[in-house]
Amino acid sequence: MRLTLLGTGDSAGVPHVGCDCETCRRYKEEGKHRTRFSILVENDGERVLIDASPDLRFQFLREGIDGIDAAIITHAHFDHYAGLGNLYRVIWDPLPLYGAPNVLDAVLDEYSYLPFPRRINVEPFEPFEVAGLEFTLVPVHHPPAETYGVVIRDGDTKVSITGDTSRFFDDDSFEEMREPDLLIADAFVPADTTHNRFVADRISDDGLEFADKHMTYEGALDLAEALDADEVALVHLSHYFDNEYDELADDGDSYVF
Ligand SMILES: [Zn+2]
Ligand SMILES: [Zn+2]
Ligand SMILES: [Zn+2]
Repeated sequence: MRLTLLGTGDSAGVPHVGCDCETCRRYKEEGKHRTRFSILVENDGERVLIDASPDLRFQFLREGIDGIDAAIITHAHFDHYAGLGNLYRVIWDPLPLYGAPNVLDAVLDEYSYLPFPRRINVEPFEPFEVAGLEFTLVPVHHPPAETYGVVIRDGDTKVSITGDTSRFFDDDSFEEMREPDLLIADAFVPADTTHNRFVADRISDDGLEFADKHMTYEGALDLAEALDADEVALVHLSHYFDNEYDELADDGDSYVF
C-alpha cells in the first residue's frame, strides 16, 4: 500500500489569499503550497481517493495521476468534496463513492448533475473492502458537520486518519484507531499562535483544540501519544505555523507499507 498526501492545507490553503504574514510571504517566495485536503491510497494497481480537494486538478497534474477507481468522502465541507467536479471528463466510468448516508446525501444533492458517482452507503464501524484493503469509517467530533475518520488495514499494517476533529471523540472510535503504524492527524494551528486574535481566542484552555472542531499541533501530538502511533503526519495545516516542525507533512509526501 502506498499513501500520498495530495493536500496538507486547511480549508483556505497556504499561502492564504490576501495574507502578507511571514509564512505566506515565505511560501510565495519559495513557490510552496499547502493545497486543500485529499489523500491517494494505492494498492494492487487500484487507486482510492480519500476526500476530493478543491485543488484536485492541480494535485493530479503535480503527481502525474490520470484517474482514480473509487473515492471516500469523510464529511460535507467544501474543502473535502468540492473537487469532485474536477473529475468530470477525467474519469469516464461510474465511480464508486463511499461515505456515511447523511454525508453522501449532502454531497450528492449538490452534485446531482455529475454523471459518474455511484453511491455506496457505509455505516460507521462496518469495514468495507476497496482495492484489496479494509477501510472503516469512525465518527469523530467536528460540529456541526457529521464527520468521520478513516482506518485502513492491510494485514498487520494499520493507518489511522482522523479527518477533521477536535481532540476528544467517542471511545469506540479511539479504540478503532489505536496503535496505528501511521497516524495522519488534523492539526490546524499551534496553540501559541499570536497571528490572529480571532484564532488565538478560540484555542481551548488545555491548548489541545481549536473552536471545539479541530486539533492544535499540541492536541494532535497528544492524540498520537495516546493512540501509541508509530509515526505521525500532521495535515490540515493553516498559515498560522511559524515553525516547520518535523511532524508537519508536506504536499506530495508518501508512505509505503
Ligand atoms: Zn477541512
Ligand atoms: Zn498568512
Ligand atoms: Zn471540516
